[in-house]
Amino acid sequence: MTSTQERKIRQTGCDARFDNLTRQLYATDASIYQIEPIGVAFPKSTQQASAVIRAAADAGVSVTPRGAGTSLVGNAIGEGLIVDFSRYNRQITDLDLEKCSVRVGAGVVLDQLNDFLRPHGLCFGPDVATSSRATLGGMIANNSSGARCPIYGTTADHVISLEIVMADGRTEKIGPTHESLRVERAKIENLIRAASAEMAERWPPGLIKRWPGYGIERFLRAPNDLTNILAGSEGTLAAIFSAELKISPLPCEKGLGLIFFASVGEAMQATVELLDLKPAAIEHIDRPLLDQTKGQLHFQSARDLLELDTKPCESILIVEFYHDVTERLSILQSRKMGLRTKILTDPVQMDLVWSVRKSGLSLLTGCVGPAKPLAF
Ligand SMILES: Cc1cc2nc3c(=O)[nH]c(=O)nc-3n(C[C@H](O)[C@H](O)[C@H](O)COP(=O)(O)OP(=O)(O)OC[C@H]3O[C@@H](n4cnc5c(N)ncnc54)[C@H](O)[C@@H]3O)c2cc1C
Repeated sequence: MTSTQERKIRQTGCDARFDNLTRQLYATDASIYQIEPIGVAFPKSTQQASAVIRAAADAGVSVTPRGAGTSLVGNAIGEGLIVDFSRYNRQITDLDLEKCSVRVGAGVVLDQLNDFLRPHGLCFGPDVATSSRATLGGMIANNSSGARCPIYGTTADHVISLEIVMADGRTEKIGPTHESLRVERAKIENLIRAASAEMAERWPPGLIKRWPGYGIERFLRAPNDLTNILAGSEGTLAAIFSAELKISPLPCEKGLGLIFFASVGEAMQATVELLDLKPAAIEHIDRPLLDQTKGQLHFQSARDLLELDTKPCESILIVEFYHDVTERLSILQSRKMGLRTKILTDPVQMDLVWSVRKSGLSLLTGCVGPAKPLAF
C-alpha cells in the first residue's frame, strides 16, 4: 500500500485503520484461509461507504465487504481494503406490522433482529447456526438459509429491497419497485437468457436451495428485481448498506423428534425418508461435534438430556415440526428409526438441543491441540 493510496482513503473521513494489529485481526475469518488486507474501513453512513469505496477504486485497491466473518469459504477476507459493515450499521427501523416488513442496517445481527421482533409475535425466517454474530448483510450476500429452509426458503426469498453501494461509489436502491440500474439490468438479462434452457434443466423451479452464487435463475423469473442477483453474490457486485426485509409470524407450536444413529450414512438415508412428514427443520450433529462438548460444564445439561454418556451414538438428527406437532411426532416415533428416538416439546429442553447445534462452529474451531476438525 502506497502512502498516496492510504491518503486517498483517509481523506474520505471514514474511520479507516492500517496498523498491523487491525490487519492481522481481519486477515482471517471462519475459513481455513488467511490473507492480510492493506487496511480496514468502518463506514457509518451510505455517504461514507460510497466515499471510501470510490477512493479505493481510484487508488486501484480492491474492496471486500465484511460482516461478522463467520463464512466458511474465505469470501470475507481479501488483499485490498476490507469494508466492515458490522461495527456501526446496526439500526432496525420502519417496522410495518401490516406489511410484515422491517428495515435493517447491514450490520444488524440475526439474534438482535429476532429479539426485536419477538415481542410482536414475529421473526426473520432464515435461521443460520451462527445467528449470535452473523449479520443480515452477510446473510443476504451468502443467501444463507439455515435449519428452517424447508418452510422459509433462503434469505433471498425475504428481501424486499436493498440500498447498495456500487464499485464506483454510486449508491442505488434496488428491488421490484425501483427503476434504477436499467442498463445493467438489461445487460444481465441478455447474458442470462442465452443460458436459460440449460438453467431450466439444471435448476427446476421447485428447487428450494442450490449452493449460492448469483441468483440468475431467480432473476430470470423476475428480471425487474436486481435483489435476486445481489443475494448470493458474496460481496462481488456491490456492498449492501441496508435492507428492507419480509418478516414472518412466530410458529404457534413446536416439537422436536431426536433420532440417534450408529452411523452418519443411516442418518443421511433417514433424512430422505422423513421428508413426507413435512418437518420445519432436519439438522444433523455428528460424533466429532458431540465429542467437543465432553467435559464442558456449559454443555453438561444438554449431554445429560441426550444421554450421551450412557447411550453413545455416531450421529443425531434433530427433526422439528411447526404444524400438527403431536400427530407428526407420534408417526416419527412409530417408525423406530436408528438406535433410539426421543421426543421433546418442552421449550427449555428444545432450546438446549438447538444450543448444541448452534455452537457447532465455535466447538469445532475451539478444539484444543494440534489436530483440528475443519469447518467448510
Ligand atoms: C455460501 C455460503 C452459504 C452459507 N449458508 C449457510 C446456511 O444456510 N446456514 C448456516 O447456518 N450457515 C451458512 N453459512 C455460514 C455463515 O455463517 C453464514 O452465511 C452467515 O450468514 C454469514 O454472515 P457474516 O455476517 O458472518 O458474513 P461474513 O462472513 O462477514 O461475509 C460473508 C460474505 O458476505 C459478504 N458480505 C458481508 N457483508 C456484506 C455487505 N454488507 N454487503 C455485501 N456483501 C457483504 C462478504 O464479502 C462475504 O462474501 C454459509 C456460508 C457460505 C459461504
